[in-house]
Amino acid sequence: VKHELRAQVIATAQKMSAQGLSRGTSGNVSARVPGGCFITPTGMPYEELRPSDVVELRLDGSVAGGQRAPSSEWRLHLGIYASRPEIGAIVHTHSMFATTLSILRREIPAVHYMIAVAGGSVVPCAPYATFGSAELAENAARALDGRKACLLANHGLVAAGVDLKDAFRVAAEVETVAEQYWRALQIGQPVVLDDAEMARVAEKFESYGQQPGQPGSRLRSV
Ligand SMILES: [Zn+2]
Repeated sequence: VKHELRAQVIATAQKMSAQGLSRGTSGNVSARVPGGCFITPTGMPYEELRPSDVVELRLDGSVAGGQRAPSSEWRLHLGIYASRPEIGAIVHTHSMFATTLSILRREIPAVHYMIAVAGGSVVPCAPYATFGSAELAENAARALDGRKACLLANHGLVAAGVDLKDAFRVAAEVETVAEQYWRALQIGQPVVLDDAEMARVAEKFESYGQQPGQPGSRLRSV
């Protein structure tokens, strides 16, 4: 089972790269295990990763298994697992459009109903802190606040989910809405859906009896 989950962490990181959500070795992926998480190692190209390269961390940050050093953003991942028991996996990317908006320190408003996949009607932008720092981990956990995604100022995107598939879907959908918002900003003033409409959308997603985002994700064959 653990070997399988390590393989899934790698497959998710490779999918992130294949779908253009991260370039080079930027970004990282983790999945919760009892008492800690599996996380991608630092500085290794995803296509070269083997299950044994995935690092097992305990919740206190100590390494429980694996000969590699963990991703430099391990504090970011552990901080979210510690504060959000329902979260089972995290995908962190420097995807182009989400990161561009983070550079403007701008949140993503409800310019498309699919933003509801991220568990709210906005994707907020966490205040800037140096990569890998405990401060960044705190800022991100605070910005997430019951949601599944937030931007990190001048840095990128954090997406969380019940499992790896869910976290990846959130990352991909938020990047799509970020791109749509960016494109709309080039030619005019985007119209933002109001809270009443976003409440209807949230209700409709729930009444499908599925995780929010599955209908759209199927269309995009994620
Ligand atoms: Zn990063």
